[in-house]
Amino acid sequence: MFENLQDKLNKAIKTLKGQGRITEINVAATIKEVRRALTDADVNYKVAKDITDRIRDKALDRKVLISVEPGQLFVKIVQEELTELMGGEAQNINIKGDPAIILIAGLQGSGKTTFSGKLASYLKKQGRNVLLVAADIYRPAAIDQLKVLGEQVGVEVYAEPENKNAVQIAQNAIALARKTGKKIVIVDTAGRLAVDEAMMQEIEALKRAIAPSETLFVVDSMTGQDAVNTAKTFNERLNFDGVVLTKLDGDARGGAALSIKTVVNKPIKFISTGEKMEALDVFYPDRMASRILGMGDVISLVERAQQAFDEDEAKRINAKMRKNQFDFDDFLSQLQQIKKMGNVKDLLGMIPGMGKMIKDLDIDNDSFKPIEAIISSMTPKERSRPDIIDGSRKKRIATGSGTSITQVNNLLKQFDEMRKMMKKMNTMQSSGKLNKMMR
Ligand code: GDP
Repeated sequence: MFENLQDKLNKAIKTLKGQGRITEINVAATIKEVRRALTDADVNYKVAKDITDRIRDKALDRKVLISVEPGQLFVKIVQEELTELMGGEAQNINIKGDPAIILIAGLQGSGKTTFSGKLASYLKKQGRNVLLVAADIYRPAAIDQLKVLGEQVGVEVYAEPENKNAVQIAQNAIALARKTGKKIVIVDTAGRLAVDEAMMQEIEALKRAIAPSETLFVVDSMTGQDAVNTAKTFNERLNFDGVVLTKLDGDARGGAALSIKTVVNKPIKFISTGEKMEALDVFYPDRMASRILGMGDVISLVERAQQAFDEDEAKRINAKMRKNQFDFDDFLSQLQQIKKMGNVKDLLGMIPGMGKMIKDLDIDNDSFKPIEAIISSMTPKERSRPDIIDGSRKKRIATGSGTSITQVNNLLKQFDEMRKMMKKMNTMQSSGKLNKMMR
């Protein structure tokens, strides 16, 4: 996410960071580079100019010039300005009414349906009773798609495949929600490939008829400047409440995230970073600014972990670790939980300093596949007692999993080392040495 921008900004700032003193001359050179990094990332020129002017004025402030670490202070100024640019404080969605109605709008392919499923799952996890509505009357496939997602996240989906009146469908769904005690209705609407008058009229009429407490505009961040223009058009007609940026897991240049708030004056509320239902984050401008500057985002990482991890399972595995009984079944279960958190490369990128290091590395969730295949080819006995895996068993496992004996050996070796490490920690803990070391 934002790798290019991150790279260029860091290069621009690097020289300043190492300087003991900031002068007007080196600030001017850095500012120019920062501005270029932003425009290269598709940030609107005026937006880039305004923000860099402000950064320059702050950086040339006397207090900064005579501070102990002017370079660090400069980075902090950039971080603060980027945060402001993206909207300052995180903004919640409005959930009001009985049921509360959330309208999802955007172009076809922007990720509306995927996001509707994600939002339903997100709200359900907060303990809310949600109903999803398929109001896309043009694409029958959209109804099926939403049904599949609904089933996946355990949320009921309302649809009327034969009805071509979106307003009627939405109203029927709301009536059903009232009757069945659903508290939130999420209406997924039809989009077109490009903005056109008929679509705008339809969605306007729908909004008027169902009076949502929150209208979210979904936009594909990979479309760069177009994303900002489409947002502008939708906002003029729909006066939406917030923006959802999707596909930030791609090599988006980030311009949309950085310009949308300024151009339409509506906050970005969510970002979507993958096709999996878990790949949704509330948008925090300050965390995003830190990430763009390569400072990582540990808070979001921990939050993702909390959402994806099954607490009972974690307790069970922890107990087994303490008894030195951690086996391949537990290992597999942990792998699956990590995968549920989303794209591995993205997750690693949230660790400070890591984004840059792994930029060119080719890792994704498929990297786990050989490991999973090897473990799946083991018998239950082998999984709990890997020490019994001899030469002939290794050969059978390698053949069964479509891997090589070397790969099987490597996994067994790594697993053995992991177990040894756990054992060592346990002994240290019981003898009180671990506490001493921690201190
Ligand atoms: P809609 O036409 O607006 O409802 O868009 P869809 O929800 O059908 O999404 C269009 C395509 O983009 C689908 O293939 C989705 O799986 C994919 N998609 C949606 N959100 C994301 C995302 O955040 N990241 C990636 N990589 N793909 C996404």
